[in-house]
Amino acid sequence: MALLVLKFGGTSVGTTERIRAVAERAMRLRDEGHQLVIVVSAMSGETDRLLGLAGELHPRADGRELDVLLSTGEQVTIALLAMALEAQGCPARSYTGAQVMIRTDSAHNKARIRSIDDARVRGDLEAGRVVVVAGFQGVDDEGAITTLGRGGSDTTAVALAAALKADECRIYTDVDGVYTTDPRLVPQARRLERITFEEMLEMASLGSKVLQIRAVEFAGKYNVPLRVLSSFEEGTGTLITTEEDAAVEQALVAGIAFNKDEAQLTVSGVPDQPGVAHRILGPVADANIEVDMIVQNVGEDGRTTDFTFTVHRNDYDKALELLQAAARELGAREVSGDVHIVKISVVGVGMRSHAGIASRMFGALSRENINIRMISTSEIKVSVVVDEKYLELAVRALHDAFELEQEAAGLHESQG
Ligand code: ADP
Ligand code: ASP
Ligand code: MG
Repeated sequence: MALLVLKFGGTSVGTTERIRAVAERAMRLRDEGHQLVIVVSAMSGETDRLLGLAGELHPRADGRELDVLLSTGEQVTIALLAMALEAQGCPARSYTGAQVMIRTDSAHNKARIRSIDDARVRGDLEAGRVVVVAGFQGVDDEGAITTLGRGGSDTTAVALAAALKADECRIYTDVDGVYTTDPRLVPQARRLERITFEEMLEMASLGSKVLQIRAVEFAGKYNVPLRVLSSFEEGTGTLITTEEDAAVEQALVAGIAFNKDEAQLTVSGVPDQPGVAHRILGPVADANIEVDMIVQNVGEDGRTTDFTFTVHRNDYDKALELLQAAARELGAREVSGDVHIVKISVVGVGMRSHAGIASRMFGALSRENINIRMISTSEIKVSVVVDEKYLELAVRALHDAFELEQEAAGLHESQG
């Protein structure tokens, strides 16, 4: 008998038929003797619908009120799933985040879980009930409802699994595992049997939204066995694992991530003097805008420089405004920007021990005539920024260049 935490995302609970199917799957696992805690998201599209309603009434609604609104999506699905279970004779109880004391900080819309009091859940499990918990939400010390950021139900599931010391946390979704890249963009993408926490964390933070970043962080920190699998078909999905366990079949590149949410800003003709980067980026940081990639070039005359960086698209207008002010003060020649860019990254722990990944990447892009605007590297990833229109072509070219369609075993040599 195992204690399992199952999480079903929006598409998996998108209609009452699907909710019934989730209940049936849960009953099969229960018949095998497992104890179950089920975390659910709002029905697909619901969170966006609620955000749209808020937008009709207030251009920048208060975070507290937004959380009261957004948390209702998950409250609907927990009740419906508990009903579907009861209808089939399975004792079940649903709870909101606050009811099972998922305590968070007070950062509305992006709160972090601090603690969970598992007494109530344990009591129900011991009484033979299936426990259904609303994902994506918690409560702060003042009793205000909070939400955990988009995709946050993954994190609720992992946090509950950690608190309950569950045997496994299973993330059921609309694809049957983690792929070498988003299978909706590249049909040749291949499902991975395993991926390391480190690689998954990097993929998630570089744009692969199959798991929320914090869920992966949490699972790595508390050693929660984590699996991604399909809610529609049977299968073993993808196990997120430690590096040592995965080493046997480790390829150099695990996958390709992309992020369409960034925008690029450039100040050109800035005097090349000490302190310039600080004067440009200081006001941006003070406005709480996160800067991602940064590149500084020496200008043609050798006395001025060009300074380019990327921010989230939502922050673009604000950052442009701040930059124009800074540029006037610095006597810079011009400020320009572009929202039609995409960041594409190849990720793999195998890169650490092999040179040549970056040049292989640049070679593949150059064969397709794709111009690289920015580059950044770390031990286990190489990222480039290119024109948005090349997204599909670039990801496919890289997928081919690193032979990701094929099984990892035996690839070591050809990838090196
Ligand atoms: P849910 O609503 O179940 O939480 P999400 O939409 O958040 O589902 O995540 C699943 C989606 O993640 C898939 O439909 C897929 O398009 C996308 N995705 C992006 N990158 C990957 C990847 N490397 N492997 C699998 N899915 C990916
Ligand atoms: N319903 C929330 C969202 O759409 C949380 C989640 O689905 O994980 O982001
Ligand atoms: Mg999700």
